[in-house]
Parts: sequence; C-alpha cells; structure tokens
Amino acid sequence: MSSRKTWTTHTPDETEAIGRDLAARLGPGAVVLLYGDLGAGKTVFVKGLGAGLGIDPRLITSPTFVLIQEHDGPLPLYHIDLYRLEPGPAVLELGLEEYFSGRGVTAVEWADRLAGSPLPPAIVVRMSDAGGDARTIEVEFPDKPHSGGPR
Ligand code: ADP
Ligand code: MG
Repeated sequence: MSSRKTWTTHTPDETEAIGRDLAARLGPGAVVLLYGDLGAGKTVFVKGLGAGLGIDPRLITSPTFVLIQEHDGPLPLYHIDLYRLEPGPAVLELGLEEYFSGRGVTAVEWADRLAGSPLPPAIVVRMSDAGGDARTIEVEFPDKPHSGGPR
C-alpha cells in the first residue's frame, strides 16, 4: 500500500522546508516525480530537496534550455525539467533510466511529459496553486522500498 500526505503552505520557504524534510528519507536511486502547473512551486520544492541533500539551493534554478542539471553532493541530485518537451519518443531519447538507476536522487519537473514511458517506482509530488501564495502539496510514497529507504 502506498502512503500519502498532504500539506498547504503559504510561503516559498514553507514549501522548501517540505522538500528538505523529504530529502532525509531518500537514498541512492530515489526518484521524485513532480506534477503541477507553471508557478505551482516545483522548483522551490526541488531547492529544498537539494538543501536537504547538502547542495546549495541557490544553484538549483529553472533551466531555460537545459533539461538536466547535475548537482554533485554527498548524494548527487539530478534535476530534470521536461517543460519544453512534448510527451512521446523524444522523452525516450533522453536516456533518463541512467539517472533513475544512478547513485544520486533524481527529481523530475513536469513528469506528465513522461506519459507512455516506463517509470521506476517513485515518490510522486503533486502541487497546485490554492489561491494567492497558498500551495497544496501532496506527496505519495510507493509501496516498494526502492525509492524510499533511508541513507
Ligand atoms: P514551478 O517550478 O512549479 O513552475 P517555481 O517553483 O519556479 O514553480 O515558482 C513558484 C513561484 O511561486 C515562485 O515565484 C515563488 O516565490 C511563488 N510562491 C508563492 N507562494 C509559494 C508557496 N507557498 N510555495 C512555493 N512557491 C510559492
Ligand atoms: Mg520549475
């Protein structure tokens, strides 16, 4: 059975803190799939993940053209943003499996673009704008321990 938890945050810092807390539960090969519209706070959340992994959150940005940013750290973070990608064969050509099975943590923004591709067991984060600065964040853990085991 998967487990699920929901929060409402009211500032970017609060959202970042949830990402930071989640990082403590991640080990090598963990995959975090983020869903949500533009401005929902996905990148803010990934900054928190990075901070929790010992990476300077200022280095974690919304890439303009780069699809994949690798951040080295005790546990590396592979930050993937698929915004500009159409779902379909182009996704398969990225070779994301290498990241999914790498020694770091993979976080994928716009994971809906992966529709139709094989997905590893992953932590799913669904974010939405709840009006003003409020954001609803739902985190779902898979039943398989693959992505969740503590370090
Ligand atoms: P996404 O990556 O989902 O497109 P970003 O993380 O880049 O979104 O941007 C979220 C924007 O919303 C930022 O400008 C941030 O300052 C703002 N914001 C306001 N309130 C919140 C909140 N509670 N959580 C996260 N971001 C918030
Ligand atoms: Mg983003």
